[in-house]
Amino acid sequence: MSDKPICKSRRDAVKVMLGAAAAIPMINLVGFGTARAQAPATAVAADDATAVALKYHANAAESDRAAQARPGLPADQQHCANCQFSQADAAGASAEWLGCQLFPGKLVSANGWCQSWTLKAG
Ligand code: SF4
Repeated sequence: MSDKPICKSRRDAVKVMLGAAAAIPMINLVGFGTARAQAPATAVAADDATAVALKYHANAAESDRAAQARPGLPADQQHCANCQFSQADAAGASAEWLGCQLFPGKLVSANGWCQSWTLKAG
């Protein structure tokens, strides 16, 4: 038995390990991106009784907004971020998730919509 196949095997093993080591940061980046896109624990659930009653949807484009648009802005410009009831300073709020006076203690998507949307003053 010669050493060559073993050396080649070691080289292959090192290549695999280096490849895996290089892939770990990429996997972490993908995982980090996924985690950021996830809704916070206090996000209003789709089956929340108030959400159902108000026809809230975390994605305004998938809500009844077009059919039930409220006065103040064209339907496609109405979303939680420019609603009078949104609260950017609520606990846990961020650029993507806001508090809402109609959902105490919970967060709504900045891109969400419900039939109580009212143009923010100012
Ligand atoms: S009241 Fe306004 S901020 Fe609250 S869920 Fe409805 S549209 Fe969004």
